Amino acid sequence: MLIGVPRECAAGETRVAVTPETVKKLKAQGHTLCIARGAGLAASITDEAFAAAGAELGEQAQALAAPLVLKVRAPEPEELPLMQRGSALVGMLNPFDRPGLERLAAAGLTAFALEAAPRTTRAQSMDVLSSQANIAGYKAVMIAADKYQRFFPMLMTAAGTVKAARVVILGVGVAGLQAIATAKRLGAVIEASDVRPSVKEQVESLGAKFIDVPYETAEEREAAEGVGGYARPMPPSWLERQKVEVAKRVAQADVVITTALIPGRAAPVLVSEDMVRSMKPGSVIVDLAAPAGGNCPLTEPGRTVLKHGVTLVGETNLPALVAADASALYARNVLDFLKLVLPKEGGLQVPMDDDIVAAVLVCREGQVLRS
Ligand code: NAD
Repeated sequence: MLIGVPRECAAGETRVAVTPETVKKLKAQGHTLCIARGAGLAASITDEAFAAAGAELGEQAQALAAPLVLKVRAPEPEELPLMQRGSALVGMLNPFDRPGLERLAAAGLTAFALEAAPRTTRAQSMDVLSSQANIAGYKAVMIAADKYQRFFPMLMTAAGTVKAARVVILGVGVAGLQAIATAKRLGAVIEASDVRPSVKEQVESLGAKFIDVPYETAEEREAAEGVGGYARPMPPSWLERQKVEVAKRVAQADVVITTALIPGRAAPVLVSEDMVRSMKPGSVIVDLAAPAGGNCPLTEPGRTVLKHGVTLVGETNLPALVAADASALYARNVLDFLKLVLPKEGGLQVPMDDDIVAAVLVCREGQVLRS
């Protein structure tokens, strides 16, 4: 099958949906790849490297016109008219963006949004949320260490002792766990909070302290269990008690990294303006929830700002700042997903009895398949 890989056009997007490694594997399965010239450059993959792996280099329009198009982000308005009705699209298409999905459906595309894959063992190798959140958690700590004007580790030197940085991590999913692991490697003292009870053990196993906010009612306990591994909004009673505990830690923190998300909803506010005011000058907040409105109301998505003496980083695409590895992991996720819809013989198939395919298929025959 002819597979097209266009250059990503979204502002700030540096990733690419295939790498020479996955191109070779797709070629070995009998597919032909048309990659737009320059598609990999921002991820340090040259056209020559793609050609050496067996891809054909073409124009952006040729890549978009293929019967199967692999992308990182949903097509921009100028790209859609270049795609063929009836063709298939695989990417991170934002399954909660209803108008965006309607545009894909209106263009007659069969669209697979990989973020909608279930969080199951079988789907792990194609879990784009995890592969990219892992990178975001790492990069958040790197940025915090860069902006923070002191050391992370404790140092005992002839010129005196330097205290270890105190890092607070709010939201301990994939990104939060990686942020803990990375900050720990740099020698910080870490405390972390999450609504889900299963997280406590994971936090402690990484050498951080869990900010315990015990559940007091059955309603709180039930909400905390979440659904499908994801968090649900917690009752206000629990959030109030969490706020008190978090406020104490934030006031003493040097760095706060927030990653709390509830799928399809605005991010919960966990660090209020008063809490920011209580922080020491020179402290840093990196708000990974910035694309969903932020865990701090002072966050400005896409910008780094100084408020009440605190640097607030609202970067909205951290994986794009680690473009080479983010692309490598994403491309492997895509390759693994393609095994479900591209059998060895014949063209694309859509086996709806496969729970992963059924979950990620968001548009087909002009219809949006999400409620
Ligand atoms: P996410 O990005 O949706 O959310 C980040 C974290 O924010 C979550 O841990 C969530 O509980 C937390 N959160 C939400 N509201 C909060 C609040 N008010 N205060 C503090 N924390 C809050 O999460 P994710 O990284 O996508 O992970 C979601 C779940 O999926 C996790 O349980 C993870 O272990 C699980 N997972 C399973 C698999 C698998 O089984 N294959 C793969 C990846 C992730």
